[in-house]
Amino acid sequence: MKTPNALLAATGTTIFTVMSALAVEHGAINLGQGFPDTDGPEDVLRAAAEALMDGRNQYPPMAGVPELRQAVAAANKRFYGIEADPNGEIVVTSGATEAITACLMALLNPGDEVVLIEPLYDTYLPVVKLLGAVPKLVRLSPPDWELPRAELAAAFGPRTKAILINSPMNPTGKVFSADELAFIADLVQRHDTYAICDEVYEHLIFDGAKHIPLMTLPGMRDRCLRVGSAGKTFSLTGWKIGYITAPRALATLATKAHQNLTFTTPPNLQRAVAVGLAKDDSYFADLAADLQAKRDRLSAGLSRLGFGVLPTRGSYFVTADFSPLFPRGFNGTDADFCRTLIAEAKVAAIPVSAFYESEPPRHYARFAFCKRPEVLDAALDRMAAWIAHRRAQAA
Ligand code: PMP
Ligand code: GLN
Repeated sequence: MKTPNALLAATGTTIFTVMSALAVEHGAINLGQGFPDTDGPEDVLRAAAEALMDGRNQYPPMAGVPELRQAVAAANKRFYGIEADPNGEIVVTSGATEAITACLMALLNPGDEVVLIEPLYDTYLPVVKLLGAVPKLVRLSPPDWELPRAELAAAFGPRTKAILINSPMNPTGKVFSADELAFIADLVQRHDTYAICDEVYEHLIFDGAKHIPLMTLPGMRDRCLRVGSAGKTFSLTGWKIGYITAPRALATLATKAHQNLTFTTPPNLQRAVAVGLAKDDSYFADLAADLQAKRDRLSAGLSRLGFGVLPTRGSYFVTADFSPLFPRGFNGTDADFCRTLIAEAKVAAIPVSAFYESEPPRHYARFAFCKRPEVLDAALDRMAAWIAHRRAQAA
């Protein structure tokens, strides 16, 4: 038989699914895949339930129900001063995952180059390759994950069509500084390219920092496609409602991509997300404050256990070096470490090497802190017992 799609045949099952399945198998506390362990706001849930019952269950408008497009436009204005026309500059998708794919489809022809920043979220590379485009990887390095400006500049060339940036960034928790964003904006304009901005963690930002969409920088309004996710903003990751804000011409193309991917997105959930986006500022501030406290709790706990914890400024995640845990280090890769941790400590984490195409660092694990405090404490207790046991065995 003829070989089906070679790129998909070579793509493994996502690490998040693999680790969540192992967590279930081992009865582990799941600090791997990033999802909160409590539901989002009651009024949003209620709005969804009510929106199931009032007779609007057929195909909604392709670009999204008017209520949600208006709410996304209003949120753009409220939080960032971005003016966007709900009729033509907002596209609702089935999750940010679809939004990112639709944006890549909107921009890329086969052979176009796309600048990607490693470590990277695991859908970017496969989609870029499936579209026949050429990834140009630029790597951030721990512990600071600072943007290597000369390398980034060198990655741009005459065939560059776009850069994809993720801020706040998964898995590093990096928040790109205003200065770094200005540097990127300058490159994008000088090379006449576009930017896809994965901003799913826009409201999960800590220490009083303010999220800065690349789109708000001078000259960038017409070059950016900005992606958000109700899953993250309302702690409802299963809902899969994403949204794109883009200049009209690009939004039109992203809508055509959406037409061929899913066509529409469940109307009831869209209407509930519109209710969520209209919540007052305190909801968004409390969400960030709650997660910041959880970040602090988990980071401090991991440090106490002996992990080399890296700072995290946003997102659901903290990255930790496990090599200092044992006098002679851990004998194995990050994937080995995470598999051992699940099987023996009964705690799931994600090996950071999964966020690299090749030659990754092999001594970092990513832990999700979007869990109830008692769950974080229980995970820390389990790891403390495991580390003590391992050290005793080695002594
Ligand atoms: N981008 C990043 C960086 C993410 O971490 C996630 C998390 N799932 C997504 C995109 C996808 O978001 P969604 O669940 O809305 O598809
Ligand atoms: N974004 C989530 C994470 O990084 C996972 C989403 C998924 O499983 N596809 O953990």
